[in-house]
Amino acid sequence: MEVVSIAVSSPVFRISGSKLHDCFVVPVRKKRTIIHTKFVSSSTNDFSNRYSLNRKIRAIHLDEVAADQPECLTGLVKDVDWPSPSDEIPFWKRKFHTHDVPNPEIPVNIEKDSDLVHVIHVTAEMAPIAKVGGLGDVVTGLARACLLRGHKVDIMLPFYECIQKDNIQGLSLISTYNSYHDGNWIQTNAYSGLVSDIPVIFIEPMNQFFKGEDVYGGSYNELEAYLFFSRACLEWMQVTGTEPDIIHVHEWQTGALPLLYWDMYCYLSLQKSRIVLTIHNMEHYGECRQEQLNKCGLDGSLYATIDKAIDDRTIGHNPERLSLLKGAIVYSNSVVTVSPTYLKETLCSGWLASALLTNRDKYHGILNGIDTVMWNPASVAFLPANYHAHNTDGKEVCKQYLQRGFGLAFEGRVPLVVCISRLVAQKGLHLIKHAISHIEKYGGQMIVLGKAPDGRIQSEFEALANLHNKGSTIRILLMYSEELSHMLYAAADMVLVPSIYEPCGLAQMIGMRYGSVPIVRKTGGLADTVFDMDDQSQPEMANGFVFEGVDESSLSQALDRALTYYKEKPIEWTDIVQKIMQIDNSWNRTASKYIDVYSSIRVR
Ligand code: ADP
Repeated sequence: MEVVSIAVSSPVFRISGSKLHDCFVVPVRKKRTIIHTKFVSSSTNDFSNRYSLNRKIRAIHLDEVAADQPECLTGLVKDVDWPSPSDEIPFWKRKFHTHDVPNPEIPVNIEKDSDLVHVIHVTAEMAPIAKVGGLGDVVTGLARACLLRGHKVDIMLPFYECIQKDNIQGLSLISTYNSYHDGNWIQTNAYSGLVSDIPVIFIEPMNQFFKGEDVYGGSYNELEAYLFFSRACLEWMQVTGTEPDIIHVHEWQTGALPLLYWDMYCYLSLQKSRIVLTIHNMEHYGECRQEQLNKCGLDGSLYATIDKAIDDRTIGHNPERLSLLKGAIVYSNSVVTVSPTYLKETLCSGWLASALLTNRDKYHGILNGIDTVMWNPASVAFLPANYHAHNTDGKEVCKQYLQRGFGLAFEGRVPLVVCISRLVAQKGLHLIKHAISHIEKYGGQMIVLGKAPDGRIQSEFEALANLHNKGSTIRILLMYSEELSHMLYAAADMVLVPSIYEPCGLAQMIGMRYGSVPIVRKTGGLADTVFDMDDQSQPEMANGFVFEGVDESSLSQALDRALTYYKEKPIEWTDIVQKIMQIDNSWNRTASKYIDVYSSIRVR
């Protein structure tokens, strides 16, 4: 027999058809009452029983009680210290201790691989210490998944000035050496440390590179800094005699490394390593003039051919330009992009399609995963209440916590939609703006968390924020905050990803893990991970709301379907929330495909 305690604000209720064996009511405060229910179950681990009881209680809770008495939720967690917009410290910066939510998630017993590889990722981003977008998440998640399978993994990262050193465990200087840049040898320090249990080597040149408050956009020449970094990583491997099986490069920033490896370092002392390139976003192709490439010690003129690194669109122009991404496609042993649909899209359109078609045999589409250690609503310390798929009560607390913290109305069962995104054209800016007004008219709530690298876009959204942020339904927050993003995913009923194109997209997967139903445009990785609730052809896959057009009315229809479903079918909605939280979008599921790629090219 198990006792379930739940706080509601009225003792007058009925649970029909439930397995309740006994029920008694204990008034604890003026308006609040604790109802202890007992239900008979053969074992306390009988989740299906507990589950259905929970659901019934929640339905009553939402329909009959919470609708006009939201403070009843306070009883679901101990001592919630509700925030308010006038708090001196913004509520998402508070330190929460994790709550005692017994997590029934069975720890995945990851089998160790027998054929082990040593991989070094060379990357411009790593979550959470140097993250701007999905690249940082992917590097950390993939590295952890491979480590768990027994492989040796290191990450090489610029030692950005903005990295908070207290997030690195055991930081220590491991070597000082010189690396080439533009006719000089720059003194460079290499440090090692652990970030979220993953070994990282930080490269710090003794010049102005990587100084500034942010990962990108410092007052140094970014192209030159990453050319330097690409070579400095190889130089470090050479001076320390480190020869991993795989050097895994990401995006244009490290695109010069495969050229440097095959045309320079393999004539020096590095020979064993093979190179994998992951393209996270084809839009950023690393434009580079020949004389700029010279700065890392290569002869730029040798790469200005169609079968090497020339940007095909600039042929015959003055000057013709190179693309570091194209060079990396040609020079890497394997090229991966981040979803099967984006692979198809990139073979059919865009100027890099011909280079990819030429290299089709080594080009793979592997869906990203998410790091379920970092993104875990049952344990993450950024939430006022933790929860999991079998007990989502904490999610209700997170929602009300956020609503109170932002001064949003928290009475009644109001749908809350969030959009967490870099504010760039790719993300469907006109659709995000349209969603704000559409949801406001509907009477829902929406929170946008984003940062625009382009000053004009930032100003447009600032104007929108000024217009909306004083009311009680919309908040537009123009900043980057990892902590707040966790809180938003947890508090939301729906997460909006209306991208014009999206190589993979993590927001929809993180949203699902946190029980927020995705509303997405059908493109790239969004098409590979979100399946429409009304698609009768595969109802078992249904996990969100999908639209195809890039116009506002296509989005409106999807929003309306989602909002109506939320309003009219609260019990089914709870079922979807629980269903999507259990979908396995983790790296544990997809890392093996990367391992296969590594194994297929490594030298034995
Ligand atoms: P992209 O890589 O194009 O930015 P993804 O969906 O692959 O898009 O990954 C975005 C990642 O960045 C997600 O983890 C998302 O939560 C995070 N993110 C985006 N903007 C912000 C922000 N302003 N504050 C916090 N996290 C953000």
